[in-house]
Amino acid sequence: MSQKKDGTGIDRCSFCGLNRMDVDTLFEGMDGTSYICDNCIERGHEVLNERLNELQKLRTPDPLRMEELMKPAAIKEFLDQYVIGQEAAKRYMSVAVYNHYKRLIFAQQTGQDIEIDKSNIIMVGPTGTGKTHMARTIARLLKVPFTIVDATVLTEAGYVGEDVEGILSRLLQVADYNIPLAERGIIFIDEIDKIARKADTPSITRDVSGEGVQQALLKILEGAVVNVPPEGGRKHPKQKFAKIDTTNILFICGGAFDGIEQKIARRLNTRAVGYGQTNRTQLDRSNMLQYVMPQDLKSFGLIPELVGRLPVLTYLEPLSKDALRSILTEPKNAIIKQYKALFAIDGIDLTFDDEVLDYIVDKAVEYKLGARGLRSICEAVIMDTMYTLPSQNDCKEFHVTLPYAREKIEKVNFAQLRHAG
Ligand code: ADP
Repeated sequence: MSQKKDGTGIDRCSFCGLNRMDVDTLFEGMDGTSYICDNCIERGHEVLNERLNELQKLRTPDPLRMEELMKPAAIKEFLDQYVIGQEAAKRYMSVAVYNHYKRLIFAQQTGQDIEIDKSNIIMVGPTGTGKTHMARTIARLLKVPFTIVDATVLTEAGYVGEDVEGILSRLLQVADYNIPLAERGIIFIDEIDKIARKADTPSITRDVSGEGVQQALLKILEGAVVNVPPEGGRKHPKQKFAKIDTTNILFICGGAFDGIEQKIARRLNTRAVGYGQTNRTQLDRSNMLQYVMPQDLKSFGLIPELVGRLPVLTYLEPLSKDALRSILTEPKNAIIKQYKALFAIDGIDLTFDDEVLDYIVDKAVEYKLGARGLRSICEAVIMDTMYTLPSQNDCKEFHVTLPYAREKIEKVNFAQLRHAG
């Protein structure tokens, strides 16, 4: 039996003095005379968390400098090396990112009485046309943490799925738990159209996958200090929440918005009646997305507040055959270049007949696989070669001909490829 500290025979917490009857749990020390209660442990935990947060804040990344900032034209030139076509989106993106960077530099300077608004971006365009690819490329240029989240997995807090705050824990992870670095990162929210309100009127019952999520997103999009659970907590398992200020995080949203063309057309037609027929005759009906306006996003089911926080609206065009052909060979990390590099490591010079490349594109178009399918088709063409050639020591070159590609492709189940894409 341990000796009681206060001589009264009642165990007390050595920190707050409460006795065993007044607390849930009282832990006894090794010496048998000192105690700590659950309240004090919890309070200590909180203090440690705050300390950790303060320490994190001290890990200030290097300040951004105007001299290092690329001008929009240079940013676009960089994008041109990786992204084929999509001129409008590349220009919009370059300006938005340039302004975002300037905004960060501006915010670093103290005593400013003007606050520059965020230039969050929303890209509308068919799937597989380069939205994610463009966002990823831009992030590489800016050397800031970048993460992609799928809006379809987001739910309101408390529902099964991922809370909106979870987006920020991913960014924090990518930033290696450096909060200030995460606070200037970029988050790409894919499939934003999938959280559109289903009907044009607000729902009476709570709509788990739609409006509620949009409401939850609003807060982090416009800038707020959010308590973020650090996912996994590998580095700081003791830390419960990190406080992340989203004011300077750039959000880029992308979505296919299937069927939005009809809404655009309807809007333009109604207007054309009011303003005479001229506008209508000049419309390029083959690509209605180019006329997309914020109100079309609203009629699609995004709530006005969310649309308002995504001020940069741009579109991506469906990829033509020529564009797909260029994607195969031209970008800096073009698929064909990647395969050539892979074979070169084995000392093999890999070449393709031009007809093979056209054939690959034709298949991607025929089976509606888009740019995403190009890789799966290429893979199907040279899979066997990749398997056998490395063991043939005397092989120094391999040329892919049309009959060879045909033979390989004919074995493929394209329905499966479509799902894989
Ligand atoms: P989205 O986000 O629009 O659905 P992605 O950006 O994921 O499409 O595109 C899928 C893949 O196709 C990319 O990883 C990239 O390799 C290729 N791709 C798509 N569009 C382009 C493009 N315009 N230029 C170069 N590559 C592209």
